[in-house]
Amino acid sequence: MNADNNRKIRLIMHLRNSGITDMEVLAAMEKVPREAFIPAAMADRAYEDIALPIGRGQTISQPLVVAAMTQNLELNDRHKVLEIGTGSGYQTCVLAHLCRRAYTIERHKPLLRRAEAMFAQLRLHNITAIAGDGMKGWPEQAPFDRIICPAAAQGEPPPTLLEQLKIGGIMVIPVAVNDQQVLRRYKKEGEDTFAVKDLMAVRFVPLLPKLAPASENAKDDPHYNTG
Ligand code: SAH
Repeated sequence: MNADNNRKIRLIMHLRNSGITDMEVLAAMEKVPREAFIPAAMADRAYEDIALPIGRGQTISQPLVVAAMTQNLELNDRHKVLEIGTGSGYQTCVLAHLCRRAYTIERHKPLLRRAEAMFAQLRLHNITAIAGDGMKGWPEQAPFDRIICPAAAQGEPPPTLLEQLKIGGIMVIPVAVNDQQVLRRYKKEGEDTFAVKDLMAVRFVPLLPKLAPASENAKDDPHYNTG
């Protein structure tokens, strides 16, 4: 516990030194126990600034990338946020500390179930999660003040997601072009007009269509300690 705390404080200092200046984002990351979102065998690496496997061929994002995406969303407690790709649920919990309500969609049901158990354990009651294809967004809940997608789109973000963003809203998403990925920020200025800014080079798992069949990557699930 103490060792985790020291490692966590070192990580937060590293994030500050790496350009994360939003104190509320840093405070939110300090509140979420990253070690609880990763396989027990890797728990001692929870506060290194690296992505780690979470099963189904997916990863929990690198802390600096979580921090940069969150900072660029410019969140406040009135915002309704959509996240595509719940993964472990770690990023969702960081969002939940900073917004009014977070809606999150994951295409792998086993990952979603594990993430939902974490939301309950951490008593974060402002998260609504479903299994589905996030490329279609969440029409019943649209429009959103903010959209975050921690999985890489090919060439362009799905148009449906840009449509489900409020005017004045912000979306942050990695986009893959010629084998390179760049983290992009879209600010919606009018119905079809966006101010686009490239933030940093990144490496994310791909954004894939449709709900994942049970067999997809099922064999590589690391053993979880759920206790
Ligand atoms: N930020 C997460 C990491 C997410 S990894 C964390 O902190 O753990 C990206 C996730 O996006 C993966 O779990 C992947 O299954 C999911 N994903 C990819 N395409 C998707 C889609 N179309 N709809 C919903 N989830 C998707």
